[in-house]
Amino acid sequence: MATKTGIDNIRVVLVNTSHPGNIGGVARAMKNMGLSQLYLVGPKRFPADEAVWRAASADDILDNAVVTETLDEAIEGCGLIIGTSARERRIPWPLFDPRQCGEKVQQESSSHPVALIFGREDRGLKNEELQKCHYHVHIPTNEEYSSLNLAAAVQVVSYEVRMAFLAQGQLDRSVIRDWDIEPASNKEMEHFYGHLESTLLGTGFIDPATPRQTMTRLRRLFNRIRMDKMELAMFRGILSGIDKLTK
Ligand code: SAH
Repeated sequence: MATKTGIDNIRVVLVNTSHPGNIGGVARAMKNMGLSQLYLVGPKRFPADEAVWRAASADDILDNAVVTETLDEAIEGCGLIIGTSARERRIPWPLFDPRQCGEKVQQESSSHPVALIFGREDRGLKNEELQKCHYHVHIPTNEEYSSLNLAAAVQVVSYEVRMAFLAQGQLDRSVIRDWDIEPASNKEMEHFYGHLESTLLGTGFIDPATPRQTMTRLRRLFNRIRMDKMELAMFRGILSGIDKLTK
């Protein structure tokens, strides 16, 4: 079980940030809103003076930042994973606006770690990264100019998280908060998808010559369902049973 609770259970994850100044701006935005857990996945340049300058008095957040090589490491153990996107993607995903995101994050962070993932300045998050997420969040900007500066995007989302915490007590209890079993972790889900794909190849349901979007759609389905650890173990057992028949 997670030892942290509430607002300390929320990770802001920045993927492959190019400009260290933006990392500092994010640290400042987070500290203003009471968030503290910063994860940096393969930053281009960090530590860096520009980050410290832009962080102002939030340099403690930079000092405590966790640097990882992969996104999977940064979101490991998180029961709720939310990715941000400045534009529409080809296969639509369950989508929040920042307010709904803040409420969801507030509700679930008392039970398990939550990740809010932000992308590269030039290209945002890759599809394979967005497909690890239970939900996406889009800040409803001017459609003709939809992309915010990275630190500005973190500011908007973390402001809504703070507002949801301030309104705490007036919100509905989410179903998952009172759940009996812990949610499956990202690592367990990635093993599960690997197993599912190999089973579906074994049955001939996926044709390796024309895989199309099958795994993407199945990832979206399971991210909507959000299996707990026991449900996942049952599913793995079912797949192993099918594997025996198709061997
Ligand atoms: N050109 C990129 C934009 C990247 S902006 C693209 O098309 O995806 C850098 C990051 O800031 C994004 O990955 C996202 O995390 C965040 N961001 C910027 N604008 C946003 C918006 N309107 N809604 C949600 N996140 C946004």
